[in-house]
Amino acid sequence: MTVTHRNFINGRFIENSNEDMIPVLNPATEQVISQIPDTSAALVGEAVAAAKSAQKAWERRPAIERAGFLRQISAKIRENAPALASAIVEEQGKIQGLAEVEVAFTADYLDYMAEWARRIEGEIITSDRPGENIFLFRQAIGVVGGILPWNFPFFLIARKLAPALVTGNTIVIKPSEETPNNAAMFAELLAQTDMPAGVVNLVFGKGATTGSALSDNEDVGMLSFTGSVETGSRIMAAAARNITKVNLELGGKAPAIVMADADIDLAVNAIKASRVINSGQVCNCAERVYVDRRVEDEFVAKLAVAMETTKYGDPSKQRDLDMGPLINRAGLDKVDGLVKRAIDAGAECITGGAVADLGSGAYFQPTVLRGCKQDAEIMQKEIFGPVIPVNSFDTLDEAIERANDSAYGLTSSIYTRDIGSAMRACNEIKFGETYINRENFEAMQGFHAGVRKSGIGGADGKHGLYEYTQTHVVYLQN
Ligand code: NAD
Repeated sequence: MTVTHRNFINGRFIENSNEDMIPVLNPATEQVISQIPDTSAALVGEAVAAAKSAQKAWERRPAIERAGFLRQISAKIRENAPALASAIVEEQGKIQGLAEVEVAFTADYLDYMAEWARRIEGEIITSDRPGENIFLFRQAIGVVGGILPWNFPFFLIARKLAPALVTGNTIVIKPSEETPNNAAMFAELLAQTDMPAGVVNLVFGKGATTGSALSDNEDVGMLSFTGSVETGSRIMAAAARNITKVNLELGGKAPAIVMADADIDLAVNAIKASRVINSGQVCNCAERVYVDRRVEDEFVAKLAVAMETTKYGDPSKQRDLDMGPLINRAGLDKVDGLVKRAIDAGAECITGGAVADLGSGAYFQPTVLRGCKQDAEIMQKEIFGPVIPVNSFDTLDEAIERANDSAYGLTSSIYTRDIGSAMRACNEIKFGETYINRENFEAMQGFHAGVRKSGIGGADGKHGLYEYTQTHVVYLQN
């Protein structure tokens, strides 16, 4: 029998009534594994109202108490780690090892944000008036609406919830309709903690129904969204109507620059890993490569061999895989179209280049394309699949200029043994993050933020935490 999930509002699971049901598929078998309600604006309104009424008492608690609840959740996650990882594998197609990393990282992230409880600082500033003190307090914003994508579905719950809660906000989370099972498990675990009712609420549904109801709700003080540029733009438009603060983590088109003096094997392995991890569906992974013409032949030949050794299949059935399927047929068609049009436009397919038929599931062959022109669609649009388009350059200036020539500005990387080249690239590449001689992942104590269409604001570390606060200025005249 298909599992049916229920919304979690004001500390309890709400029986579904007459909502439309959305089927959830396993992307490897394409079989229905569960269903979720397409939650109405009225019920989203109830969730926001519950978060709003819980917020005052929540903010009044000392931050260290709020942190204690985050630690209760992380302990529950660790106790249930294998089941959580299996859910992610089944509904998202992630390989087992990576799903296990995601679950462990999520628990660590909650603990890391809990540590901030004793470190949230304000300021006292000298005044121009005799006998006056000026205090800057950091206070909670109120109710946060967290809208999530499917590619790191479990971790992204924590990335929104942990900084929101430790700073005194309450939250309504809407997981992706593609990957709600792990979020439903999160709610089950949450219900086993002492978390006060209304502090965390979870509503399921489609973007156009539930997501837009959450972004339209004027009692939401901040919309924290991770997903595509197109949806980010819609959410920003909704936020504009209510003058709601937004924090947007959107798509990427990460450039990787490989200099002639680079350790080519290191660059090949890192870029390959970056392209096959989560089947290439990661916002900050190398999406286009610029290689110095003098080492292009060696780099491309080694990259093709590396990509050809990629093992892929159904991650629920096999453990020793490098990648699983793409999230769905629509994702597969998008990747396939981009690759076909790139080849039609003159790119040379070195390896891969086509849909892989494994009987069922949305698989694409690990692919290397050479001779991709800077203005080609494949160098400009987010691919979100195991495909590496390569372009070559003669000077670092040229590489930097092409790297910056993008609507996106999330992450970037450079491979070189020369500190001067590395630092020049860091100074001149206009991206939120630059990795030197490695690819992602970002660290929880860093600041994950994009420029241009990759987003507004950011996540992680002190700066990410403070995104969830507003400054309240107090003038005290003695
Ligand atoms: P998406 O934009 O299609 O959906 C994300 C979420 O938004 C889903 O929950 C969806 O239901 C909801 N949504 C859709 N329409 C909506 C609307 N009108 N109003 C409110 N909510 C709506 O993105 P996706 O396909 O789930 O995720 C992939 C994208 O996410 C990629 O572009 C990727 O680069 C990006 N991403 C970015 C980061 C980052 O940190 N910058 C991290 C992960 C993923």
